[in-house]
Amino acid sequence: MNVLFVSAEVTPFSKAGGLADVAGSLPQALAHHVASIQVITPLYGQIDSEKHSIISTSYQGSVALGNKRYPYTLYTTTPTDGEIQTWFVKNDQFFQRQGIYTEANGNGFEDNNLRYFFFQLVVLDILKRELFNIDLLHCNDHHSGLLPGLIKASGLPTHSVFTIHNFLYHGHFSKEELELLPDNFQTLCTPTQWNNFSALLEGIDHSQKVTTVSPGYAQELLAGENIDTHSHEHILAAQSKFSGIVNGIDHDYWNPEKDLYTPFHFSKDRMDGKLKNKFELLKQCGLDYHQDVPIIGSISRLVENKGFPLILELLDDFADRAQFVFLGSGDPVLTEQLSAASQKYPDRIAFDAGFNEPLAHLIEAGSDIFLMPSRFEPCGLNQLYSLRYGTIPIVHKTGGLGDTVIPFRANEGTGFVFEPYSLESLRTSLETALETFTDKKQWAGLMARAMEQDYSWSRSALQYYRLYTSIK
Ligand code: ADP
Repeated sequence: MNVLFVSAEVTPFSKAGGLADVAGSLPQALAHHVASIQVITPLYGQIDSEKHSIISTSYQGSVALGNKRYPYTLYTTTPTDGEIQTWFVKNDQFFQRQGIYTEANGNGFEDNNLRYFFFQLVVLDILKRELFNIDLLHCNDHHSGLLPGLIKASGLPTHSVFTIHNFLYHGHFSKEELELLPDNFQTLCTPTQWNNFSALLEGIDHSQKVTTVSPGYAQELLAGENIDTHSHEHILAAQSKFSGIVNGIDHDYWNPEKDLYTPFHFSKDRMDGKLKNKFELLKQCGLDYHQDVPIIGSISRLVENKGFPLILELLDDFADRAQFVFLGSGDPVLTEQLSAASQKYPDRIAFDAGFNEPLAHLIEAGSDIFLMPSRFEPCGLNQLYSLRYGTIPIVHKTGGLGDTVIPFRANEGTGFVFEPYSLESLRTSLETALETFTDKKQWAGLMARAMEQDYSWSRSALQYYRLYTSIK
């Protein structure tokens, strides 16, 4: 079986969120099972081709959007022993810009629909021209949601799997935009109740298997939680081909024993490096060390559903008992509120409003507690990184957070899990965490159990492989 994994972002080349990490690590794990697996993604202006040894190839072509043709050239990495080959679609008009999806001010690019229509039509062109030998296309989120239908409309034999990383983002497009796509594909598409179209729902309708990134989130979608009734109907219609497979993490890249970005390495049996990273984190954030005061870390896109309204309400109550380090970019109002909080408590709250990969690793390594009270969370990766670094997560019991963090009880569990999603229940959870932190024996046990969890990709990759082979 030869697989092409299609993703709008791929670590280490481009990253806006968890999708990039999955696209950068799941194919590596799948390579142990399938005959071949390659990845394809756009060549964005921010990708450092020289650093990643990305070279141009003689594969070129053009695809039509309406009555206009747009050229493309394929670029590729030059993989050495066992590395995954990643292909890049180059077209400067669509991708030669700094952002992946958004302008510097956070607004989405106006032509995002056309950009990803183009990207998908190039993938379709590759299949039609048989440039590579591909039996199965693994599509991810709405940026590649049209491909299962495009394959079907073209009568190609290629199988398709569609993974939903976040149901919040549909990639809605208009009837006029639909008319830019091949005629026989247009007739397959179903309008939404708003009379536009959803690339996400098209992916669900036309792929042979649909997955989402945790069993808990799959259950929530099937139950219609946090989604509109029209979307729920599509999910229910796809029920027999729908399942949840929990994300894994790249155990090499997120490894406290050899993390590239942290000055001190540590393991379950040698924890002194963690304390040294805590000093380093405080230093980098301009905070003083206070004995027995825990650092509570947070790394997140700044959006409402990551739980910031609750966090912001509680900062006044906890700023005298903990230090907070926030790393996140996104919503301007949340950015302003976190900045104001860090100015109000300059020795207690630090906030970095950028996208900062090295700092993200240091926060995981140097914090005591990781705060992730998302209102809903398809899988979540930072709670998994936190477990691996002995940084105890506080999470809302939802989606993948509920699936991966085991609630703390005396001598049991790996983190603090609260429900319902409310100020009072997060407050109680924070209180319990701070109280438990003072009990050194309990805390050491929690850290040890957290670090023993195995969220490597091996189990989940096998589940994906079984899913691939179940397609007839
Ligand atoms: P989502 O995909 O909804 O953003 P996930 O928890 O699945 O959430 O994945 C988020 C990924 O993006 C994690 O690897 C996290 O460390 C990273 N991340 C988010 N914001 C930042 C930031 N400001 N700087 C560095 N990494 C970030």
